Amino acid sequence: MKTYIVGNWKLNFTVGEASIYLHKLLKALPSYRDIQVAVAPPLTALQPLSLQVDRHKLKLCAQNAFYRDYGAYTGEVSFNQLRGLIDYSLVGHSERRYIFHEDDKTVAKKVAAAIRNHITPILCIGETESERAFGETADVIRDQLIGGLSEVADDNIHKVIIAYEPVWAISSAKSAKLATPDEVAEVVRLIRATLADTYGAKATADIPVLFGGSVSPSNAGGYLTVPGVDGLLVGNASLILNEFIDIINIAKRVRS
Ligand code: PEP
Repeated sequence: MKTYIVGNWKLNFTVGEASIYLHKLLKALPSYRDIQVAVAPPLTALQPLSLQVDRHKLKLCAQNAFYRDYGAYTGEVSFNQLRGLIDYSLVGHSERRYIFHEDDKTVAKKVAAAIRNHITPILCIGETESERAFGETADVIRDQLIGGLSEVADDNIHKVIIAYEPVWAISSAKSAKLATPDEVAEVVRLIRATLADTYGAKATADIPVLFGGSVSPSNAGGYLTVPGVDGLLVGNASLILNEFIDIINIAKRVRS
């Protein structure tokens, strides 16, 4: 199984800045057969970067897209329109859920739309600080996982990636705390068990499960050794070239 390192640039970088960053990243990045690196630039940069990228070294990921393929949806961009530019898309990132009010039904339609357009959805799930405090983590994870996958046909279930991102550990959270490897392990076990119970152990054994939440060079190795974790979704640290490269090299070391 490959190890995935995905950088989420969020609302950062102009097209010019994104292009310079990508140029430097491609120059510094060895092409590791067993490490799949991807970056999720802002939408405006996807088309120009798709012409610049060396897809053997790095893939492009969208941060979001709309679930209809075309029509009267002013201001939206569809997975259909991104087809060919990107290989992956984040879906249901907590910033989409809590700032833009995306619910599991919307997330499910987006997951299905991505697959329909030959784009691998990275379904982001995770509990808030108060949900954890009230002992609701397992229910939230199960609901977001089963809800988010509800429009995927059983024979397409192997086409998804899951990212566990506790909302309270994401660096943009008011008082972000680092998740401990044990906390991550417990939820990743639950994710894998829920997938196996719902779709069968054989069909879901190879679904990659990533972790995200204030990942940095100093904690990446620890998270990558959590059983069942197949990679990292990196926000803030992916904006700093040297840190992102360090994390990729740590992944290579940990996995070799
Ligand atoms: C994210 O936004 O997906 C994320 C994990 O951000 P950060 O690494 O900054 O916490």
